[in-house]
Amino acid sequence: DGVAALKINDLPKPKRRKVDVLAEHKKVSGKKSASFVVIGHVDHGKSTLMGRLLLDLNVITQRSLDKLQKEANTLKKSSFALAFIMDSNKDERERGITVDIATSHFSTDSTNYTILDAPGHQDFVPNMIAGAAQADFSILVVDASPNSFESGIRGQTHEHALIVRSMGASNIIVAVNKMDAAHWLQDRFNEIREQMTGFLTKVGFKPENLVFVPLSGLTGDNVSKRRDDADVKWYTGPTLVNALDSIAPTERAIEKPLRLEVFDISTDSQLYPVSISGRLTAGNMQVGDDVIAMPSGDTAIIQGITIEGNDVDWAVAGSIATVHLSGVDAEHLRQGDIICARDSPAQNVRTFQAKILAFEQVLPMFVEVHAGTMSREGQVKMPLVALLDERTGDVKKKRPKVLNGGEVGRVEVEFGDEKGAPVEKGRRVVLRYEGRTIAAGLVE
Ligand code: GDP
Repeated sequence: DGVAALKINDLPKPKRRKVDVLAEHKKVSGKKSASFVVIGHVDHGKSTLMGRLLLDLNVITQRSLDKLQKEANTLKKSSFALAFIMDSNKDERERGITVDIATSHFSTDSTNYTILDAPGHQDFVPNMIAGAAQADFSILVVDASPNSFESGIRGQTHEHALIVRSMGASNIIVAVNKMDAAHWLQDRFNEIREQMTGFLTKVGFKPENLVFVPLSGLTGDNVSKRRDDADVKWYTGPTLVNALDSIAPTERAIEKPLRLEVFDISTDSQLYPVSISGRLTAGNMQVGDDVIAMPSGDTAIIQGITIEGNDVDWAVAGSIATVHLSGVDAEHLRQGDIICARDSPAQNVRTFQAKILAFEQVLPMFVEVHAGTMSREGQVKMPLVALLDERTGDVKKKRPKVLNGGEVGRVEVEFGDEKGAPVEKGRRVVLRYEGRTIAAGLVE
């Protein structure tokens, strides 16, 4: 009886320590955090470059690389040892948050980075979208060696660039890779920079948001250490690591109202009625705070916060935390719900407009709407709002009958559930139909 009551009833409200979370956060962290996705044509050297970063920034040791080198030699793939790092170092797939992508982590003096890793094959587009949906920016790897660059542009490079752009990541570092194989020729670098700038601005990137770095993932030149041989005196720009640090967003949205995206709900704790795990996408929270769960609108009190197994008093955007709540019924919570600051919650909407990139035909049709860990039934409304110019976003045609694969458009989507869902402006959404991703884009 007592136990059942505890599940539903309030625990006494815990003492709020009134922590100045922003000030505390500044004291302890000092570091920014940022995540990025690596894109580019297969074989252009994505895995090798990421392996190089993890080696140079001491995530893996030279000894483990030597071991991988032996394995690679046995497999007669000796040039792939660095690329093998990415496979051996993948963190366990964190359910919910990373969908089908693996993450790796490394830190520079100023920033903690998460690499959102999606495998580089034809069929990896859904994973790539999952990565792009969480990325602050991307690294586009292009092969500078003769002929490769040109075939890459015709290949996956175009599709990847469109996807990251449609998901709202507006900064790209272009790693002009394999410069060792291109003899560090300035002309080759300039030629690629010119062509890529033309190409990326055509899919909607602004020239000032592009950074080009000539480098070699294989030899490590200009990755974390500057190559200072005579053949590359012409280059005075940043190394890849410097470029990363300058592009990483300076402040997570920690001063904004709390948004915590729920990916797991549990009633197993002996101490607390309901515990939820989730990711703080904005704001901050502390023990004793009043919160509200959307879309249900149920209010709750934060009884405790756990991060990586430790009880803490507060947490800020960017963290993944377990929050222990009282005053709320677990039955009213679902994966994909948003826990909000009580005084400024996300509003439920029944319909929303989104600017999307279609991968397949999009018509007025029933779809699954995915946003982060949320998945809900919905419907693309008739008529479609507009077909847009992929670069400028200008309306090319009103009320088109259909958006074809590769086209950018504006549509209105209605949730099946009358209550709607708390999707806010700027949220990244993915539309699926019969298990296939048919479109991705941003809520307007
Ligand atoms: P991915 O498919 O884009 O991940 O490419 P990989 O990292 O697997 O690399 C494909 C091939 O290119 C491998 O044989 C690598 O050793 C080679 N490669 C990668 N980076 C470089 C580089 O900077 N210089 C040279 N010469 N080869 C490289």
